[in-house]
Amino acid sequence: MALLEIVNYPAPVLLTVGKPVEHFDDRLESFVEDMFETMYHAKGVGLAAPQVAVANRIFVMDCSGGEDESQRIAAINPEVICTEGEQTGDEGCLSFPGLYVPITRHQRAILRAQDVKGNWFELDGEDLTARCVLHETDHCDGIVFLDRMTILKREMAKRKIKRLQKTGKWD
Ligand SMILES: [Zn+2]
Repeated sequence: MALLEIVNYPAPVLLTVGKPVEHFDDRLESFVEDMFETMYHAKGVGLAAPQVAVANRIFVMDCSGGEDESQRIAAINPEVICTEGEQTGDEGCLSFPGLYVPITRHQRAILRAQDVKGNWFELDGEDLTARCVLHETDHCDGIVFLDRMTILKREMAKRKIKRLQKTGKWD
C-alpha cells in the first residue's frame, strides 16, 4: 500500500467530470486500498479519486474513522438515485485544508454504485452518511463543496483561500 498525494483546490482535476470505471481488476483494487490508507492517514471520512489526481468515478468513505469495519465503503461509478429532507452542518474537504463551512444538503440519500469486483449495491444513508455520499459523489461529477455554499459563504471561503495561498499555507 502507498499514500497518495492529495491535490488542493483549484487543481483542474477537481473540476473535471470523472470517467466511468470499466475494468475491475487488481489495479483498481490496489488503488482503492491506497485511497483508504490515504484517507485514514489524512483523518478524513471520505476521499474521491479526483482528489488524488485521478479523473475516475471512484470514492471511499468511512464515517467511523476506521472504528467500524461495516462503515468502510468503496463506491465505483456512484450515482445518487434518491434523496429526501434537508440538513445543515459544518463540512470540510481534504482538498480544502482547514476550511469548515456550513453546508445544506439532503438528510437522506440512496446511493447506487459498484464494489471493487463490479457488483452493484445500494446504500441508504442518513445524516453524516448521506452528507458524505453526496459530497463524494459530487467530486466524481467535478463539483466541489464550494459550489454548494451560499454565495456569501463562498466569497468568504474564496477570500480565506487567497489569504492562505499568499502565506504559502495552501498549495
Ligand atoms: Zn471533498
